[in-house]
Amino acid sequence: MVRENEVRRGEVAVPSPAATDAGLEFIGRIHTPWTNRMQTPRQGRADGPICRIELFAPWAQGLQGLAQYERVEVIYWLHLSRRDLVLQCPANDGVARGTFSIRSPVRPNPLGTSIAHLVGIENGMVLVRGLDCLDGTPLLDLKPDRTLFTPIAPPQPGDFQVGD
Ligand code: SAM
Repeated sequence: MVRENEVRRGEVAVPSPAATDAGLEFIGRIHTPWTNRMQTPRQGRADGPICRIELFAPWAQGLQGLAQYERVEVIYWLHLSRRDLVLQCPANDGVARGTFSIRSPVRPNPLGTSIAHLVGIENGMVLVRGLDCLDGTPLLDLKPDRTLFTPIAPPQPGDFQVGD
């Protein structure tokens, strides 16, 4: 049975970072159908439900130009995660794995990232498929999928060039 915030056999907890030392600004809020961590998908799917990403003022104008991309990288703060496990047992079988070898939401800085499929942009709301976070999860950033993005500034020495 899965319980929220339990420490399982084989897991190791360490003192967790202070909640106030990151200095990040939440720039929006993600609206999804999931209100319970146990029912939230472990990773988003391209055929998942449409979720709405709300941008707070003054950040909505930063969406200019995003609509041309098919996919967007969404970076969010898994705000209900514990932050103190350095070894974790995802299968609850006593087999421990290092926190940095898995994509568990439990991490010292609980950042979540998803490559989501852009469905549309309406009145400062970005509609996407492919998320895996709870309703109300704070938004940290949005970026075009790096595989679709070509740097806008002129090339620099050392940049990868097509044909290299
Ligand atoms: N796709 C992201 C990644 O790989 O960085 C997150 C993956 S994480 C395994 C997704 C899980 O985090 C969900 O199944 C849910 O259990 C949990 N979760 C989702 N939103 C959360 C939130 N706001 N706070 C804490 N846990 C959350």
